[in-house]
Amino acid sequence: MSATAEVGQSGAEREAAVVQAVPTGLFIGGRWEPGGAGTLPVTDPATEEVLAEVADATPEDGVRALDAAVAAQASWAATAPRDRAEILRRAYEILVARTEDLALLMTLEMGKTVAESRGEIAYAAEFFRWFSEETVRISGRWSVSPNGATRLLTMKQPVGPCLFITPWNFPLAMGTRKIGPALAAGCTVVVKPARQTPLSMLALAGVLTEAGVPDGVVNIVTTSSSSALSAALLADPRLRKLSFTGSTEIGKGLVARSADQLLRVSMELGGNAPFLVFADADLDAAVSGAMLAKMRNGGEACTAANRFLVHESLAEEFAARLAGRMGALRVGRGTEAGVDVGPLIDAATRDKAAELVQDAADRGARVLVGGERLGERGYFYAPTVLAGVPLGARVLTEEIFGPVAPVTTFAGDEEGIALANATEYGLVAYAYTRDVSRALRVAEALETGMVGINQGIVSNPAAPFGGVKHSGLGREGGAEGIEEYLETKYVGIAL
Ligand code: NAP
Repeated sequence: MSATAEVGQSGAEREAAVVQAVPTGLFIGGRWEPGGAGTLPVTDPATEEVLAEVADATPEDGVRALDAAVAAQASWAATAPRDRAEILRRAYEILVARTEDLALLMTLEMGKTVAESRGEIAYAAEFFRWFSEETVRISGRWSVSPNGATRLLTMKQPVGPCLFITPWNFPLAMGTRKIGPALAAGCTVVVKPARQTPLSMLALAGVLTEAGVPDGVVNIVTTSSSSALSAALLADPRLRKLSFTGSTEIGKGLVARSADQLLRVSMELGGNAPFLVFADADLDAAVSGAMLAKMRNGGEACTAANRFLVHESLAEEFAARLAGRMGALRVGRGTEAGVDVGPLIDAATRDKAAELVQDAADRGARVLVGGERLGERGYFYAPTVLAGVPLGARVLTEEIFGPVAPVTTFAGDEEGIALANATEYGLVAYAYTRDVSRALRVAEALETGMVGINQGIVSNPAAPFGGVKHSGLGREGGAEGIEEYLETKYVGIAL
């Protein structure tokens, strides 16, 4: 894709140009093909208007994409690590160079502000840089057996062809977080992006081709039949791995369906992140961290703080300050200058936020700010703070996925930790305290895959991202990320 702004081009012309520059077919074996089921629309959540029509794949199209991945597997695995690394590095550089066009495209299909989209592109690209560096460090072990009779050689080999299913909330980064380590390890892939935001992933195909990724190593299929297409691939014995990012409910179903072929699986699922503020916390830092933890991606993040658990001595002050900051945010179309928060992805997500707020208010919570839909068109909802939320409220147990911050209280540390852990989810937790011992005790006791201490954001390509309990299996990023795409083979050698 290249639709760099031209002199004299209006905002609307530039928007149209970045969309038109994206190929809308299925990317199979390095070629663009039509979908067997016709096309499916992609809508701008700020205007409810159709932006583009992309190919709609049938399950047979999906199998052809797997054919291409299988055909490319052996030669990609045999490509020198340094060559794979250089390709990933070039992909990083091209992505960074195209940030402006890609950010606008992402905002148009997903709604977040252009500033947020730029942030996602930087994050997405970083997975290519990080894993280009890991590619040349894949290694094994050599040891002597305890009785001295044999030698034990362990080697790492690529798992084989993978299927990636990604969500709409981070249209690019949830893909590169899987594609980077897979390509580094020597695996080929079929990617199925979310139907609501396929354009960013389709644009990535051009970046990867330009970077030198050989035909068939990455294949991208868009479809309105996610279930049927993935069922066909999961039943195919040539597929060796499934990595999914999305809701816990769909993830559980996919794990069950992966059992027949005993696939390796990685699952990045839903969250219900607690944000703990202890009595000794720096309140300014806690409020700033809360804004990040809640409002990154407009609240549509698996890592979004879902429950603010604040020591009873600070709760009123914390809620009031948070309401001040949330109330000052400007809501609007993500392409407009000065806008802080874009629309939600669709009417159902907006209506669920409204429903959760109503339920909390009915149970006695106070709406300090927000609590309403905004605008006639587009899926806008006002940044909202709820104080005094009673424990039974749905907003504390369900994933909100919107700009709503419920505040509730605790008295002692044990109670705070127990409340934080009282959920089936276990992705991330945040804790604010100035006491190092308390911070470490709390970090150990929290039943989550990640903990942010005095920071409202944990996502970092150099760190292992992932959850426990119903939030998932496996890790993405860090030194751990590449292991998801490697098998260990042991060779016993008698000398
Ligand atoms: P979703 O409904 O589970 O969809 C995710 C992906 O799965 C989409 O590509 C979707 O395709 C596909 N899909 C839906 N039903 C399927 C089926 N029966 N078989 C195979 N694929 C299917 O989730 P979402 O609403 O897009 O995303 C939000 C969820 O993702 C939240 O729960 C959030 O917490 C989670 N998430 C987790 C992480 C993490 O790293 N832990 C990161 C981001 C998001 P269609 O678009 O065609 O429906």
